[in-house]
Amino acid sequence: MLKLEHIKKSYTVGSNKQVVLKKVSLSFRQNEFVAILGPSGSGKTTLLNIIGGLDNYDSGDLIINGKSTKKFKAPDWDAYRNNTVGFIFQSYNLISHISVLENVEMGMTLSGVGPKQRKKKALELLKKVGLVEHAHKKPNQLSGGQMQRVAIARALANDPDIILADEPTGALDTKTSKQIMELIKEIAKEKLVIMVTHNPTLASNYATRIVEMQDGNILSDSNPLENSQENENFMIKKTAMSFLTALKLSFNNIKTKKGRTALTAFASSIGIIGIALILSLSNGFNIEVENFERDSLSSSPIMITEEAMQVDEEMVSKMQNKQESLEKYSDKDKIYKQENVMNSMLHTNNITEDYVEYIKNINKNDISGYALQTATSFNIINHTDNDYEMVTTTNYQLAPWTLLPTKVGEEGMVESTYDVLAGEVNDEEPGLVLIVDSRNRVSETTLKQLGLDGEEFSFDDILNKELKIVLNDDYYKKVGDNFIPSNDLKSLYNNENSITLKVTAILRGKEDKEIITGTSGLAYTNALTDLVVQKNKDSEIVKAQEEADYNVLTNEPFDEENTKDDMLAYLGAESMPIAIYIYPKDFESKDNVTAYLDKYNDNKDEEDMIEYTDMAEMISSLSGSIMDAITIVLIAFSSISLVVSCIMIGIITYISVLERTKEIGILRALGARKKDIRRVFNAETFIIGLFSGLLGIVIAYLLTCPANMIIENLSGLADVAKLNPLHALLLIAVSMILTIIGGAIPANMASKKDPVEALRTE
Ligand code: ADP
Ligand code: MG
Repeated sequence: MLKLEHIKKSYTVGSNKQVVLKKVSLSFRQNEFVAILGPSGSGKTTLLNIIGGLDNYDSGDLIINGKSTKKFKAPDWDAYRNNTVGFIFQSYNLISHISVLENVEMGMTLSGVGPKQRKKKALELLKKVGLVEHAHKKPNQLSGGQMQRVAIARALANDPDIILADEPTGALDTKTSKQIMELIKEIAKEKLVIMVTHNPTLASNYATRIVEMQDGNILSDSNPLENSQENENFMIKKTAMSFLTALKLSFNNIKTKKGRTALTAFASSIGIIGIALILSLSNGFNIEVENFERDSLSSSPIMITEEAMQVDEEMVSKMQNKQESLEKYSDKDKIYKQENVMNSMLHTNNITEDYVEYIKNINKNDISGYALQTATSFNIINHTDNDYEMVTTTNYQLAPWTLLPTKVGEEGMVESTYDVLAGEVNDEEPGLVLIVDSRNRVSETTLKQLGLDGEEFSFDDILNKELKIVLNDDYYKKVGDNFIPSNDLKSLYNNENSITLKVTAILRGKEDKEIITGTSGLAYTNALTDLVVQKNKDSEIVKAQEEADYNVLTNEPFDEENTKDDMLAYLGAESMPIAIYIYPKDFESKDNVTAYLDKYNDNKDEEDMIEYTDMAEMISSLSGSIMDAITIVLIAFSSISLVVSCIMIGIITYISVLERTKEIGILRALGARKKDIRRVFNAETFIIGLFSGLLGIVIAYLLTCPANMIIENLSGLADVAKLNPLHALLLIAVSMILTIIGGAIPANMASKKDPVEALRTE
């Protein structure tokens, strides 16, 4: 069944070529116990290794069941070793870090036998060699004879046709040797056993055929086989190691060097710790900044004013590129006009009736309020003791009145931003509210506007105070073609047509909203504007102004700065808002609102477009990008330690390859492919990578506690550092990938090791 034809083998060491086998031809029967006898160095082991497919012959042919092996590829040899031959070595060659049972199972594991069947078969074999009660011991807990029995059980595991034994009793005492030989003799009853020995007594006592070798030649053969019958149905089953097996093997190996593995994992986790901390800090700061912006900016309105500033990236780059062609510090004696960048950034909005309609149709779920500011002036008179005074409401240097947003939905912008200290807010009624600062203060000008004088006031002092809005027809008296305001303030104040105006509520910005509600003063409702416009739009002066093309108050002609429309708006003729303030409900709905506003501009000419200003967006985009830049720089620094750990893993794996060389040889002898060996070491780095990633994340997570304490001490911000679970997972993956990359070269080296040499290492 096995036939060697003119097998030649030589080794070259340096320039010295040694022929070890000189045209050896031998045939074996299906079923015999052949002893190969010969002095040390005669080429017995080499012959056996060639028969077992561990070593390659130079020329000649090895014929298995009538099939030539000349065209065998590596996988064919692997499969041949796995399921056609079983090896028994002088030094047992068991894998020391897995149990006796697992050692016996290994060959079956490689050929893909299921775990249950594998275990059953292995226990059966261990029983046969008398070691079933030692199945769960590690090999080094056994005696030499016992170890050799395990090796015999392992050799039999895949039911090979051929058992190859290289001085199986060479390391055993006489008594144990006899027991082992009996066992092998038993096996030889149903298999072809080829045993190498230099002990003639052993050979003659047990073998059925003795082949003597000397200097690479067959010297004699006690029972040669001539003209053997060939049957050509030789089948071999391909082998493969699953990644799980590789993992298990490496995990058991790693368990034998816990300390070193822990140190390695810790060292390579340092980069991960660094990056995890940076990410959790920047993540935390981002959340902090975002929350701050949410609180402070979400209630700042989106503004649509007559002139909108566009500060987007495009604009900024345009600004920087302008006139760049002009040389700096030039020698030319020329002067240039500087382009006005501001002009190109300003957009004039023409707020139309359509647009106001469009704004009023915003999804009510997205906004908490809106305010439409018109240019209408109020003719307001206050009453102090015995005096009457006109109230200025529009002078920006003093205390301008602001517009209270009209509530939309359940909780309006006013409720969410202010505490009501007294009275009631009703934005559907024409009225005023007084907004005080965090210390309940208002400016002197505001008090003066209300007609109050003093240092301290009760809420009632404020709520009881009355102002009067005088209608145009009472206020403006016609004199010729012109109108002049009346100065009999007392009778105007007491005129029954005049509208009584009261402060209906006192508001103070909520504690956490102090930044945006800092300014104090009076605010009026949209309803007040509507009422005044309604009363004044048909007044004498409005009608006169509509007809005249000069200013009926000053008698001056109109120009670009002071238009008739402005004047009409001022007098309260029905007019368009000059500014619209939209209060998004929260940060998310703000995007909906801006999307809605952007949609209006679709397919519109530049001049008809309405641009809005979104301060919140401008500020947050700036702070976000600064944060990101800092994070990237820090991560780049920490990544250096990842590179270092990558190299370190490479070195550690290389050491492991050196340590496990014997194991590589054993696995190859059992039929493991090169790929499987690579897999074993990849599994090792996989485990270390996973471990160091997990360790890094755990340590980083623990470190966020002291980090948070320090930050809280320094800045008062609590719980800033937060590790995003997604980042954690990603970092573990990075750690695993990096260690696998680091271990790839040594793993590849391991897979290329020559099995015979690997077996020979100690
Ligand atoms: P035996 O098993 O009969 O003692 P071997 O087959 O081990 O002999 O070795 C036969 C000869 O081949 C010896 O001289 C040994 O030095 C040489 N030899 C074996 N393997 C190698 C090798 N890998 N490289 C170089 N020489 C080798
Ligand atoms: Mg030998």
